[in-house]
Amino acid sequence: MVMKILVATEKPFSKQATDGIAAIAREGGFECVLLEKYASVDELKAAVADADALIVRSDKVTAEVIDAAPRLKIVVRAGAGYDNLDLTACTARGIVAMNTPGQNSNAVAELAISMMIFMARNQFTPGTGHEISGKRLGIHAYGNVGRIVARYGRALGMEVMAYDPFISDAAVFAQDGVRMASSVAELYENSDYLSLHIPATAETKGSINYDLLISMPKGATLVNTARKEVIDEAGLAKAMAERTDLQYITDIAPDTAAELAEKFGKRFFATPKKMGAETAEANVNAGLAAARQIVAFFKEGITRFQVNR
Ligand code: NAD
Repeated sequence: MVMKILVATEKPFSKQATDGIAAIAREGGFECVLLEKYASVDELKAAVADADALIVRSDKVTAEVIDAAPRLKIVVRAGAGYDNLDLTACTARGIVAMNTPGQNSNAVAELAISMMIFMARNQFTPGTGHEISGKRLGIHAYGNVGRIVARYGRALGMEVMAYDPFISDAAVFAQDGVRMASSVAELYENSDYLSLHIPATAETKGSINYDLLISMPKGATLVNTARKEVIDEAGLAKAMAERTDLQYITDIAPDTAAELAEKFGKRFFATPKKMGAETAEANVNAGLAAARQIVAFFKEGITRFQVNR
């Protein structure tokens, strides 16, 4: 029987990406089925019923979806963050869960830099703004996106410092012309622009709190292209109320977006819909990588990007 790869996307890939995914599947001897813009979890459950592999974007793969997929062996999140996959449910069923790291990093990094300039220039409205050149840029988490933001920041004349709890060797940063902060506190205290790149995990959720935000220098801007869950929204609102110079721009609208917009006006901005990875290039890169990873898994047992070990 031909194995089936289901591509389930509430927010579809581009046609170029789905054509590429289908071609990779076909060459590998797989059938490729698309479920796009589905309206209910029941539609997704019906579609996964005979799928051996699943590719998703930000779609939620819950225990309920896994239960409805008796043949499923592998789920690939075409993207970096995989907090939409229920890893416990995957592991319990022996299903390999993967992401496609690095494929959309440039798109997200370009957005982060553009957000800094947007806020420095009064959200492109009249008035005297600032230049980001010469300012201090803090990078919180030095992964695929953080490293590119650091490089672009340096190219724009910013002084760059970074912190990542899993990198203790200053040489990793020094080779990019970046200073290593010895703690999260040191990073926030010394960043005019703080670009967030931490994943949403049990430890990071709500971790960007009042104490960190209030410690930032005068006129500082927090730029979030990571996840809304990492922000302690009450702490953010309190810090912004006390410090009328702080600014927050995010690619992931907070639960309290309306309230923040009303209270803080142009010191706050949220993109209407998450758009960090929404470039034609990232769309194709991540989709094709997901398809290649599935073929390599079934043909050669390659699990390099498995996230539920
Ligand atoms: P990555 O996996 O390459 O890097 C993540 C970094 O976070 C790693 O260097 C890791 O050491 C560090 N880290 C892990 N746990 C941490 C912790 N507890 N505290 C601080 N740092 C920690 O990921 P990436 O590709 O750089 O993406 C970063 C995040 O950006 C993703 O997790 C995702 O949530 C988000 N993202 C958003 C968009 C978007 O559309 N806005 C697109 C891609 C990624």
